[in-house]
Amino acid sequence: MPKKGMAYLVGAGPGRADLITLRGAELIGKADCIICDKLANPALLALARADAEIVNVPKRIGPGSFTQDQVNRILLEKALEGKTVVRLKGGDPCIFGRCTEEAALLNEAGVDFEIVPGVTAAIAGAEYTGIMLTDRRYSSQVAFVTGREADGKEDSNIDWNVLGHFPGTLVFYMGIGTLPLIAEQLVGNGKSPETPVALVENATLPIQRVVRAPLERIVETCRAEGVEPPALIIVGPAAEGDPGLNWFMRQPLFGTSVVVTRDAGGNAEMARKIIARGGLPVEFTTMALKPLTDRNEFLEALARIATYDWVIFTSPNGVAIFFDFLATLKKDARIFGSTRLATLGAKTAEALKRRGIDADFVPTVFTGKDLGTQLLAHTNLHDKKVLLLRSELASNELVGLLAEGGARVEDVSLYTGVVCKGDAASLTGQIRAGEIDWLTFASPSSARGFFEQIPPDAVESSKAKIASIGPVTSRQLAELGVRVDLEAAEHTIDGMLDAIENVESGNL
Ligand code: SAH
Repeated sequence: MPKKGMAYLVGAGPGRADLITLRGAELIGKADCIICDKLANPALLALARADAEIVNVPKRIGPGSFTQDQVNRILLEKALEGKTVVRLKGGDPCIFGRCTEEAALLNEAGVDFEIVPGVTAAIAGAEYTGIMLTDRRYSSQVAFVTGREADGKEDSNIDWNVLGHFPGTLVFYMGIGTLPLIAEQLVGNGKSPETPVALVENATLPIQRVVRAPLERIVETCRAEGVEPPALIIVGPAAEGDPGLNWFMRQPLFGTSVVVTRDAGGNAEMARKIIARGGLPVEFTTMALKPLTDRNEFLEALARIATYDWVIFTSPNGVAIFFDFLATLKKDARIFGSTRLATLGAKTAEALKRRGIDADFVPTVFTGKDLGTQLLAHTNLHDKKVLLLRSELASNELVGLLAEGGARVEDVSLYTGVVCKGDAASLTGQIRAGEIDWLTFASPSSARGFFEQIPPDAVESSKAKIASIGPVTSRQLAELGVRVDLEAAEHTIDGMLDAIENVESGNL
């Protein structure tokens, strides 16, 4: 008997990637094939297996769009090939999601399926704008309505008379194109022209926007503000919202665009942190990390690693590259024997901890200089063998300090950064157009990589402010002739974002 496939109709959540359910995320990671809607956040595909087949099926009008029939066919075909298929849909798969057709098709073909609920746009859009859909003071009922049938077609199931008299909150999906008809029908069927309406565009994303007007003026306001799909139309007293409950748009970084300039992995991680603070990350890759674990210098140091008194890692990347290489040799943390380990910074210590090692020493502030002076204060390094495993591009400051303290230092490169080209023309345009609020630099090499591609004068003459992670990076920026507006007091990514947040909230 051929292997039977399995289909999962998965809700991707309303927009923001981490609003998917645990079950949904787990299934994306298992799937052989993912058939993905336009409304599902593409960042979720990072959870997919490297060999998973991704089929994007936008259903908009125009080239490259798919009809529901085509989507159905692909879904069935892949499942019948014996694959584990995830059909990833924006919001909840069954709320205006054509789920009935897809599930019925699978059912008829004898393919097993599971439906994984998702947070639907109406709920998230309201909760991310301070609108309480079922505020007991004036909304004991909510209706979700499709705007597609507002044109009064004969086969429409919408009862405008009921909606016109509905004593609660109405939420229209897919209604921006038919807003004039919706407004006309509601007023014509008894809704007061003064009823509050909120349009919520791109709900839960850093570009979320809310536009409000009474029902009688919402059409002109929508046009004037240029509201575009995806957007919800929320109608009723609840749509007034409570600014005090609008926690999302009140975050200090909300609406603030922050350029991240590290390697692709580092940028993705930092982008997640910015999104979690409500900001808008703009990823610009300046370099790619390249392991140097095939060099003799490294292999020789590794062969006698247990003979060093101290081994020092200076970044989580270094720890990852080192242990990934050890794994290829089928070795683990035991190769360190009784050698002691120090790290530059808590994040590097955490990375070691995940590999089962408690660092013996972590300085309290995080520069190479701090590590050197504090380690020397912590222990006598006279005549001790110290191995530094770090980036080829790291500065010499730490080596000099440790050597002055009498240590016999070996500075071995574990990885390097090779310059990587980003879309410089596009970012330069955004900077010149005043669309960028902050440029962030987490290392001297990313500062160099960035200004090799982006003309410093574009930045100088724009409103973009420059944040540096610490003094070494600031020095590099100064050498490049670039002013530094902010240097993080705590030299970590979080420290840099805290500092930016302080400026944005007016605390500095
Ligand atoms: N199944 C989806 C809805 C699909 S219909 C869900 O449960 O959310 C598509 C409509 O959903 C859009 O026209 C818009 O009205 C709404 N929508 C989806 N995502 C949205 C978002 N992030 N912000 C505002 N509206 C959204």
